[in-house]
Amino acid sequence: MPTTHFSYEGNILCADGVPLTAIAQQYSTPLYVYSRNALTENYLAYADACKKHQHPDAPALICFSVKSNSNLAVLKILGDLGSGFDIVSGGELARVIAAGCDPRKVIFSGVGKTAEEIRFALENDILCFNVESPAELHRINDIAGQMATTARIAFRVNPDVDPKTHPYISTGLKENKFGVAFEEAFDCYKTAAAMPNITITGIDCHIGSQLLDDAPLLEAFDRLATLVDRLEAEGITLQHMDIGGGIGITYHEEQPVAIPDYIARLYARISQWRKDRYNDRPIRLLLEPGRSISGNAGILLTEVQYLKTNAAKNYAVVDAAMNDLMRPALYEAWHTVLPVEKQDSAAATYDIVGPICESGDWLARQRDLAIESGNLLAIMCAGAYSMVMASNYNTRGRAAEVIVDNGQVHLVRRRETPEDLFAFEKVLP
Ligand SMILES: *Cc1c(COP(=O)(O)O)cnc(C)c1O
Repeated sequence: MPTTHFSYEGNILCADGVPLTAIAQQYSTPLYVYSRNALTENYLAYADACKKHQHPDAPALICFSVKSNSNLAVLKILGDLGSGFDIVSGGELARVIAAGCDPRKVIFSGVGKTAEEIRFALENDILCFNVESPAELHRINDIAGQMATTARIAFRVNPDVDPKTHPYISTGLKENKFGVAFEEAFDCYKTAAAMPNITITGIDCHIGSQLLDDAPLLEAFDRLATLVDRLEAEGITLQHMDIGGGIGITYHEEQPVAIPDYIARLYARISQWRKDRYNDRPIRLLLEPGRSISGNAGILLTEVQYLKTNAAKNYAVVDAAMNDLMRPALYEAWHTVLPVEKQDSAAATYDIVGPICESGDWLARQRDLAIESGNLLAIMCAGAYSMVMASNYNTRGRAAEVIVDNGQVHLVRRRETPEDLFAFEKVLP
C-alpha cells in the first residue's frame, strides 16, 4: 500500500503534496522520486526508539545499508541525521566520503573484500570490519601491519536461524556463503585476539532481508549473546553487538513488525542480559537497516506507451523496464502500481511490461487499471534495491532521480544519455 508520503490529493497522486504529473513534466520518465520526509521519518523510527532504551554510556548506531540506495543525496540526508553506514564495497565507501559523511561511522561487510578495499578503508579509519572468514582476518591483519596501524573488527557470525523469507535474500542459514559458522566463531576470535594489528570490538550477524517477524532476529541475538558470554569468560570483551538489517516493508499486504516494537524487544533482552551477567555494564547496539529506511521512501514513475492485447492478455507497455526495476524479474516481487491520475473509465486487467527484449521484462502482472497511452503510473516502494540494481541493458540510460523536500523538487542524479553509455568504448584503429 502507498505510504502517507505518496498519496492522492483529489484525483492526482502526489509526493509530499507535489503532483507527480508536474514532476514528470519537468524531469520526464522513467523517473525515481524519493521523499526526504519519508527517509527522515523511517530513520528516526530506529534512532528515537534506540534513544528511548539505550544505555547512556553506549549509544546505539544505526548504520544505513548503502547498497539499498546509494544516491549521494540520500546518504547525506541520513548522515546529517546522525546515521552511520554499512557498506559492502570500496565503491560504497567512496560514495559515503563523496557525500560528505563520516567514514568513522562506517562498518564494512561482505565476503570478498580485496586488499585495495581494505587499505582504502583503513586509510579512512572506518569504525569496523565485519570479517566473514579466517582468510580475510589474516589479510586485514597483514595490511594493517604494513600500514603500521590496527584494524577494528567484528566477526560476522552465522547464527543458523531461518528468517523465513525468500531464499535469495536469506543469508543466516549454515549453507549460506556469508559469515563464519557459529561453531567456528569462538576459535576465530581467539586467533584474532593474538594478532598484533587487530583490535576486536564486536560481533555481527545479518540473517536476511524483508523479514516480517522479529522472532528470528531475537533468536539470532540470543545465540550471539551466548557467544559473547563465552568470549568474555576467555578475556575477550566486546564493545558492540550488530544485529544487522532485514526488517521488511509492505509491498502488498505484508504486515511487518513495527520498528519501535522490535527495538523495544531487542533492548528488553539486552538490558536484562547485561544486568544479570555484567553488573549492568552496557554493550553498544549496531543495526544495519536498508529497505526499512529507503524502501517506501521512493517510487518509480513511468508513462504508458502502448496498450496491446493478444489472445491471452492485455499488456500495458511502459517506458520503465527490468533494467530500472529488477525485483519482479529477479524474485517475482510484487510492486503496487497506482495511476497518477485516477480515471473514471472502466478498468481492464493488464500486465505491465517494459520495452526490453526479454519475456522476463515485466514490472507487475494482472493489475486492474483504467489507463490509456500517455498516462502516468507510479510503481510503489521503489526506494530500495531498485535504482542501485539498474543496468544499461538494451543501451538504456539509467533513469534520473529526484528528491522532494518540503515542496521543492531537486534533481539528484541526471538521466544518462546514450553518449554516457559508450563514453568508455573505442573502435579498433
Ligand atoms: C543488504 C544488507 C543489509 C540491509 O538489509 P535490508 O534488508 O535492506 O535491511 C544489512 N547488512 C548487510 C550485511 C547486508 O548485506
